[in-house]
Amino acid sequence: MNKRLGLLGGTFDPIHFGHLRGALEAGECLGLDELRLIPNARPPHRGLPGATAQQRLDMVRLALDAGNTGRNDIRVDDRELSRDRPSYSVETLESLRSDLGDAVTLYMILGWDAFGGLPGWHRWEELLGLCNLVVLQRPDFNPELPEVLKDLLAARCVSDPADANAHYGQIICLSQTPLAISATHIRELVAAGRSPRFLLPDAVRDYIETNGLYQP
Ligand code: ATP
Repeated sequence: MNKRLGLLGGTFDPIHFGHLRGALEAGECLGLDELRLIPNARPPHRGLPGATAQQRLDMVRLALDAGNTGRNDIRVDDRELSRDRPSYSVETLESLRSDLGDAVTLYMILGWDAFGGLPGWHRWEELLGLCNLVVLQRPDFNPELPEVLKDLLAARCVSDPADANAHYGQIICLSQTPLAISATHIRELVAAGRSPRFLLPDAVRDYIETNGLYQP
């Protein structure tokens, strides 16, 4: 049977328990062999970074070091940060495919809000030819989907994880433990002098404090 690899891309500014729990539960639910968190180079349409690319990568590493307790089934993959141009998911999938070969099935994990924005992504129609999509619910985001995505869901959606057995082309909708945590809210709390504790790993909170991140 093919190795099954889950990928969660994000800005991780900072990484928090919504990301970590979503990735872990997707991995368990689908029986994935490995998960990779892929920090992206900040897209140009987002505001000025609260943290540098290196700091965002450091925080992902700290979150994984703190939580892995000897297991190494969640890793960081920094391939998007090592390119000096915007990261396009389709190119990341192509690069993984060329590194790993056809014997690996790729599952791109993303929150409902990110899924709703899919038609704006570079070469987005090609994504399902390279991987399966795993869509996580987000209690704090429930945007109306554009028609094109409603049609795509009707054609490709799998609601029972037991039926998620294709090499590519399926959209798997998961209801993981709902966590209304966002990086935006964490940055706002820190900027207001309030504690983000229990929304993210302590090691990441300490790093934010030590480096004076997200101050107004
Ligand atoms: P920001 O508030 O800065 O936009 P964010 O919290 O949405 O950040 P990102 O790094 O942009 O975090 O998200 C990376 C991926 O993780 C996206 O696909 C996003 O939808 C998903 N995600 C983030 N937070 C959650 C959550 N609480 N539950 C489920 N999915 C999430």
